Amino acid sequence: MLDCIFCKILKNQIPSKKIFEDEDFLAFHDIHPIARIHFLIIPKLHVDSLVQCTHVHQAMLGRMLLLGAELASQQGMNDGFRTMINTGHGGGQEVFHLHVHVFGGETVIPKL
Ligand code: AMP
Ligand code: ZN
Repeated sequence: MLDCIFCKILKNQIPSKKIFEDEDFLAFHDIHPIARIHFLIIPKLHVDSLVQCTHVHQAMLGRMLLLGAELASQQGMNDGFRTMINTGHGGGQEVFHLHVHVFGGETVIPKL
């Protein structure tokens, strides 16, 4: 996707503070963190959002969540962490390339 900023990050056309990469996923720190630690995990395959996902994406979605837990531990969030997937304009999504937020420690948004 030519105009997608996360696809540009994947192609190193926009810099990011990467914490993990494999053949299917990239994780990097959010540029506007809402907690002491806040990173995003994106699939390398461009999908606009969760609502566009089908059974074809089922394994990828599961692996992305498991990766979130693994990276949260690696980033020192041993006390726990939060995950968030904003979906669609009504769901507060700003970047239309599927991503999971993982954050923890001194969060600036209230607990739901
Ligand atoms: P969302 O509202 O779920 O679409 O969140 C998009 C997130 O991407 C926001 O938290 C932004 O701060 C973050 N973001 C946007 N551009 C960049 C970038 N170039 N590098 C890192 N994070 C970004
Ligand atoms: Zn994209």
